Amino acid sequence: MDHLDQPPFPEELQRQTQIASVPLYLRTLFTRLPSDMTVELGLVSGVTPTLPLAARQLLKLGLFSEQISVRTRAVADPGEQGVCVVRSGRRFTPTAGDLDAGISHLTRAMLEALLSPAEFSLLTESFAFQTSTLATLRTLTTFMLEADDVDQALFIMLSGLTSGYALGFNRAVLFTLDESGQRLDGAKAIGPIDEAEAHRVWEAVELEDKSLEDLIADLAHRNFDTRFQQAIQRLSLREEGAPRFFERLRQARAPFVLSREALLDLVGRPFDIADETIVATLRPHGRLLGVVMADNRYNGAPISQDQRDYFSLFTDQTALAWENLALLKRVEALAREDALTGVLSRRELESRMAIEFARCRRHGRPCALVILDIDLFKQVNDTRGHAAGDEMLRTLGAILTRELRADDIVGRFGGDEFVVVMPEIGEAQACQVARRLGRRAREHGISLSMGGACWPQHVAQPEDLFERADQRLYEVKRQGRSGIAFAEAAMCGFSDEG
Ligand code: GH3
Ligand code: MG
Repeated sequence: MDHLDQPPFPEELQRQTQIASVPLYLRTLFTRLPSDMTVELGLVSGVTPTLPLAARQLLKLGLFSEQISVRTRAVADPGEQGVCVVRSGRRFTPTAGDLDAGISHLTRAMLEALLSPAEFSLLTESFAFQTSTLATLRTLTTFMLEADDVDQALFIMLSGLTSGYALGFNRAVLFTLDESGQRLDGAKAIGPIDEAEAHRVWEAVELEDKSLEDLIADLAHRNFDTRFQQAIQRLSLREEGAPRFFERLRQARAPFVLSREALLDLVGRPFDIADETIVATLRPHGRLLGVVMADNRYNGAPISQDQRDYFSLFTDQTALAWENLALLKRVEALAREDALTGVLSRRELESRMAIEFARCRRHGRPCALVILDIDLFKQVNDTRGHAAGDEMLRTLGAILTRELRADDIVGRFGGDEFVVVMPEIGEAQACQVARRLGRRAREHGISLSMGGACWPQHVAQPEDLFERADQRLYEVKRQGRSGIAFAEAAMCGFSDEG
């Protein structure tokens, strides 16, 4: 009747144990200890002993670890109070010196007393492995966070999953959730398509003997469009076909492992699948973006606890990097675009104009600039309301985007004023384009005034184009609006082609 020997764990001591902090690496170490160790707390009936910090920390580590059990034991002699660790008949009772030296020393003394030399070196090795893997993952994460775009970050993730330096999976694939949120499409994959290719790839990697930094630096130049990736890109997983899998993805807080049968069922067609496939969601702040899967298809190794642990660590980092990059992209796009009309913002317009002007001068290419301003736009706002005014601005933005070439620069300078820069054309052509814009706008009930200028015909420097065009616009407004003026201050109408 073992439990009769086990006095209750005094509440005050439980509290003191809970508040003793322990180094994280010791928590990890305790999860790797053999499972036949027990931390024993000797108690004299009715007495709550005062334990030194290291003893409370040892108790706490024992309570954390699923490997280790903790139990109390009734002792008669107050000198026997306190913690000791037992393992198959051997008992390690810390000395006062062990306890004074602190929990790290105490742990080492305990391991030396209770582990065989072989067990001891195995534990050290697995710790060294963990340290180097963590260092690699940290490097990869840094690269991922510094990546310029999502594609690059995701390839770094897949490389990390498959690189022998890091997680060492044989293959890794990424599925991304489509807009409907109900279909996962095969997007990216790293891995050989078959065993023969697997051996070739590994030979190459071994021969190259590259450092991790070199491998990543290489990523940009590598062609990832492998046969394996092509095969993955033909796969889609639909929620209607696999509601339980999607449900599981939405619920999953940690990676899970799918059997060959389960995954085959999911894919719904013959596919080269391993015995075990680990699955993790990329879900920054709860929003599902995609799913990562990895396996050991070619060496057939079972997925180790280390691979599981690091897989989730790494995919969580990837999810955050992905979200960061997506947000950054959106913010950048917002800064580039005018929110109302979708043409370039004033800031982006000015920076693109500066680049274009420099390029034209360097190559001696002509360049034309036209400023467009809606006539009596205030009246539109005043009589039909601000919303109608906004709608008119949007319509004009759409007309300009549609009617102009991709390499023309179109931006909203402010209010009802737009700027168009057309590289490589002279006055005759620029005037023709401007008239066409005037006619299209009129078809939508928008009356425009425009001023234009060309380099090198009208101004000494491309940078002077704006000021000259602005003067011409002013002339058009003065002469009664709804027209265009270029070199000559006199304006002409839009219908007059040629
Ligand atoms: P003009 O023919 O001389 O150009 O007369 P106008 O009334 O168009 O005068 P102006 O170009 O100076 O007026 C611009 C007006 O555009 C003033 C402002 O109320 C309005 N506006 C500026 N930005 C917006 C906007 O984002 N939405 C709307 N609805 N109106 C705007
Ligand atoms: Mg106006």
